[in-house]
Amino acid sequence: MTTALLTHSDCLDHVTPPGHAERVDRLRAVAEALTTEGFAGLLREDAPLADEAELLRAHPQGYVDKVKAAGPAEGTVALDPDTHMSPGSFRAALRAVGGALRAVDMVMAGEAANAFVAVRPPGHHAETARAMGFCLFSTVAIAARYALDRHGLSRVAVVDFDVHHGNGTQDVLWDDPRVLFVSTHQMPLYPGTGAAEETGAAGNVLNLPLPPMSDGRRFRAEIEAHALPRLDAFAPELVLVSAGFDAHAADPLAQLAWGTADFAWITQRLCDIAEAHSGRRLVSTLEGGYDLEALAASVAAHVAVLMERGA
Ligand SMILES: [Zn+2]
Repeated sequence: MTTALLTHSDCLDHVTPPGHAERVDRLRAVAEALTTEGFAGLLREDAPLADEAELLRAHPQGYVDKVKAAGPAEGTVALDPDTHMSPGSFRAALRAVGGALRAVDMVMAGEAANAFVAVRPPGHHAETARAMGFCLFSTVAIAARYALDRHGLSRVAVVDFDVHHGNGTQDVLWDDPRVLFVSTHQMPLYPGTGAAEETGAAGNVLNLPLPPMSDGRRFRAEIEAHALPRLDAFAPELVLVSAGFDAHAADPLAQLAWGTADFAWITQRLCDIAEAHSGRRLVSTLEGGYDLEALAASVAAHVAVLMERGA
């Protein structure tokens, strides 16, 4: 068994305006970090294009049509003050979703023990019918529904450690008792949701907000006290991860103070859950992370643990 890496050069054709934090160079930095010797054992595969019908697992047809139609013939267009599309954006988003779904297929088929999906645009802010926060489609929520409905699973955990609350994932999965959604995030911070009182229509959401300047020790204590017991009790058949690396101390978009070792630590703990309940099946998809050096180092730490635990 091994760790799969899914990515695609089409994800470099999602171009944002000059100075935008969610930029092409992020994915280049991630790709470069994963070309060093230690990552030679990754099972590398191109992320396929998702069928547009797969988007309907999270979004109404009218929304999909609207996003598709919004893509410009040239230049960029703003869907909201943060969220832009270029001519290649819709296709890049289909690669992102397609990569996550293929990764689910691979771990379900035993072709890989776990997987990292290195794609952009990210997805966890995209709500049922609203693009926002750099995100067009709710990639990880779509992957959760796909695993449940296509692979016949009955319990999927989605863990989001991006520094921003995964409001889109929460919106899509709010009333789906087959999913436990766990999110750690800085609060207050964009998008403003993610209070501990937001627990899901079926008690299926666990939000663990962290105050600004929280370090990795605080984060680990919250995970150990609240997230791990809930995940253990839920006993997921598959673990999906919204892997944002913007809680790193060097990240310019937020004020948490995690280090690279904290990303390795949470990856170990999520692999523990997957090992205990899910036959090791875990699929991690890239969300945020905006300091290129910190992003590269943190992704490398994350994927190194996936490889160690997936071997
Ligand atoms: Zn983020």
